Amino acid sequence: MGGETDGHGIDGGDGAGRPAPDDLRWMRHAFALADRAEREFDEIPVGAVIVGADGTRLGEGWNRNIVDQDPTAHAEIVAMRAAGRTLGNHRLVGSTLYVTLEPCAMCAMALVHARVARLVYGAADPKTGACGSVFDLVADPRHNHRVDVVGGVLGEEAGRRLTNYFRAKRGRPPVP
Ligand SMILES: [Zn+2]
Repeated sequence: MGGETDGHGIDGGDGAGRPAPDDLRWMRHAFALADRAEREFDEIPVGAVIVGADGTRLGEGWNRNIVDQDPTAHAEIVAMRAAGRTLGNHRLVGSTLYVTLEPCAMCAMALVHARVARLVYGAADPKTGACGSVFDLVADPRHNHRVDVVGGVLGEEAGRRLTNYFRAKRGRPPVP
């Protein structure tokens, strides 16, 4: 599977941070959710889906900041709220969250609060990423829960999608 990741990746450092067989499939699903954010709502195209330990989909979402007038409505938060309703529990123990862009500090702390077991993200975010790029909140030993992280899964495609979204906003042609 190593060939499916790229230089965006960070490793959990303890051997846990490896892609699993279903990671690509769920990341592609997250891409489809991101596409909906852009196409249907003109939101920044970030998509997220949460899968339980048994492989069932618990919740999903995409950025809804503008449409919901909600500064906290990042894709990860929307997906975690849905998963909490599905489980009837504010703790999402044993779950994996897939998201197309490395989570920010708000979302990273929500992952810790929710006891999410594993995070798989696509593109790294060198400006605000809080899962290894700028901050590393999900692995900080001072927290009472740590999240295993696999970064850079389909990361090149994830990064290109976001780059082209912002290029299109400025009237510039897409990069191939
Ligand atoms: Zn966020």
